[in-house]
Amino acid sequence: EIRLERIAKSFGDAPVLDRVDLVIPAGEFIAIVGRSGSGKSTLLRIIAGLEQATSGRLQSTDRLAVAFQEARLMPWLKVSENVGFGLPAKDQARIVTDALAEVGLAGKANAWPLTLSGGQAQRVSLARALVRQPEVLLLDEPFGALDALTKLEMQNLVGTLWRTHGWTVVMVTHDVAEAVRLADRVIVLDGGRISETVAIPGRGPRSPEDGHLAPLEARL
Ligand code: ATP
Ligand code: MG
Repeated sequence: EIRLERIAKSFGDAPVLDRVDLVIPAGEFIAIVGRSGSGKSTLLRIIAGLEQATSGRLQSTDRLAVAFQEARLMPWLKVSENVGFGLPAKDQARIVTDALAEVGLAGKANAWPLTLSGGQAQRVSLARALVRQPEVLLLDEPFGALDALTKLEMQNLVGTLWRTHGWTVVMVTHDVAEAVRLADRVIVLDGGRISETVAIPGRGPRSPEDGHLAPLEARL
């Protein structure tokens, strides 16, 4: 569980977040939407521990992994090295191989990041998260730069990974359709406050068998 209590954040005297209260139960897929500048990335960065709130309380005991819009791969390292970076040498090769297979990139272990398409780079980014065995995946506009079809494929992949691993997912997105398609709950940030919380009917963490991605997947 991630618990935010009256989180506020200012940069200088510019308030960016204002009294944000939010509890994200383990296993939930939550999407954060809102117009540009509403504070979405700042909120995600606070949850990730990359940014300090000005006031309020953040409680989380979970192990986190973060993926951003740009995959942020290290171009001087091969795909497999990007994924395995920092892992103990023992079992690294096997873990990396498994992760690449799971994201559909089994054949790209020895490729250089600059030779990958945008979608493939995002798959590497997800593999890099996967090997760290997170409890929570934080995504900031992960598919914003992708074409529509690749975006759908990546949405399906994230949905599948979420269901397979029982992760909590917090996804920031501009794309309301994407939010509704994937999330159990959508929150709207407006001027640094949560202006709306929408539970998507029929969803809930741990109801994977109904496979809410199935109809679209079948059409692809
Ligand atoms: P977008 O949809 O464009 O990514 P966002 O909702 O993610 O927007 P944030 O990046 O959280 O918005 O920014 C919210 C506000 O905080 C903006 O006005 C931004 O200029 C400001 N801001 C963010 N980071 C900093 C910083 N490090 N220093 C000063 N101001 C910042
Ligand atoms: Mg942002």
